[in-house]
Amino acid sequence: MQVAVIGGGVIGVCTAYFLAAAGHEVVVVERYGNVAQETSSGNAGIIAPGYVAPWAAPGMPRKILSYLFKSESPVLLKPAMNRELWRWARMWLKECELDRYRTNRTRMQRVASYSRELLQKLTEHYALDYEQTAGVLQLFRSRRELDLARPAIDLLTESGLAHRMVDADEARLIEPALSAHTPLAAALHLPQDESGNCPLFTRQLRHIAESMGAEFHFNSHVSAISSEGARVSIHIGERTFSADAVVIAAGFDSIHLLEPLGVHIPLYPVKGYSATAVIKDFEQAPLSALIDESYNVAITRMGSRVRVAGIADLGSRGPELREAALRTLVKVGDDWFPNAANYHTANYWCGLRPMLPDEAPLLGATTVDNVFVNIGHGSAGWAMAAGSGKILSDLVSGHAPDIDMSGLTLARYG
Ligand SMILES: Cc1cc2nc3c(=O)[nH]c(=O)nc-3n(C[C@H](O)[C@H](O)[C@H](O)COP(=O)(O)OP(=O)(O)OC[C@H]3O[C@@H](n4cnc5c(N)ncnc54)[C@H](O)[C@@H]3O)c2cc1C
Repeated sequence: MQVAVIGGGVIGVCTAYFLAAAGHEVVVVERYGNVAQETSSGNAGIIAPGYVAPWAAPGMPRKILSYLFKSESPVLLKPAMNRELWRWARMWLKECELDRYRTNRTRMQRVASYSRELLQKLTEHYALDYEQTAGVLQLFRSRRELDLARPAIDLLTESGLAHRMVDADEARLIEPALSAHTPLAAALHLPQDESGNCPLFTRQLRHIAESMGAEFHFNSHVSAISSEGARVSIHIGERTFSADAVVIAAGFDSIHLLEPLGVHIPLYPVKGYSATAVIKDFEQAPLSALIDESYNVAITRMGSRVRVAGIADLGSRGPELREAALRTLVKVGDDWFPNAANYHTANYWCGLRPMLPDEAPLLGATTVDNVFVNIGHGSAGWAMAAGSGKILSDLVSGHAPDIDMSGLTLARYG
């Protein structure tokens, strides 16, 4: 089959790889000049089925309100929030109920666990090096934060994911440079979770996919898709190409291609930020990945750099870097690893998480013949990329995926 994949982020490239491996003729269409130029380029890099969870969780609305007027906060709200955001926020609030949280988290973890298994096989098979580190440490500054995380920790036990609560002393044995000046009530160690440089991986997988025959068409912006009988047409400026099937993996912008086809989904762009700084003292730097639960900010070791990433900026979707977001990242870096790097002079970045209110991705067929989606991975697209790519390849090929697909298809939005 001839299959076109729209979008060269980590999701599109993983999809292209698995489609090429299954023997299809694959063309990736990307509007920029290389792969991983948008959200996949500056993320925190955490690949953690143990940590993958919806932000819509019990206690989260109260937590967000408690931060609203603080100078450092995990969430930023623009005063003039639009109607689209209010609608999305109302749906998101409903997902904060415990039973919804459990369902959504289980769906996300199903994809993430499968994905990690495939990523490990790919890494081994092709001897990939993308600055991987092992283990993730989730930090709780207070007992209250720990209590809020209880439902999530209980679910880890139920789903058999390796984890261990440790006290502050033990946390510092795992991460010896962790500052003793910042209060730490407890930490959750996830030894099987990992982190890695997402764009580095994506570029390597692109070359492997190319060696299998996949073609990459860069600087090509898809303006529309139309389905005619057994073929699907892709419109790029004045040009039109056709294929047997199309997979839309265009991050948040997927909705601009889906809406004209009559496919309406509540995908919203939740802007996030990262600060990447060169390590100045390796003895004082993190060894792997950590998450500050109070600020929902991750600190990741990436080779000779340290990255601090997070923040949900709602209502702002342009490329501007908001001072309040950067201030929070610098605070978290300085709180935990003050001598590792100068976060004030870091390389700052922002990107849009393609987020659904219930936060599990949408994988598979749409109501339009031969048009498929691989979208909505929100805050965990890197952790779910390999699994989502293989699932799409199986579905396009007419095979049943290896995992249960309930709750992961467009059917959940009627
Ligand atoms: C601050 C931050 C931290 C994060 N941390 C993590 C983390 O630790 N772990 C994790 O798993 N996830 C994390 N994420 C989320 C993760 O980065 C995303 O889920 C993932 O990158 C989404 O990948 P994607 O390929 O769908 O989107 P993108 O990387 O945005 O790729 C979409 C591609 O489609 C192209 N495109 C769009 N429209 C068109 C068009 N019309 N024609 C042609 N091309 C088009 C774009 O140019 C782009 O290259 C984080 C995100 C942010 C913002």
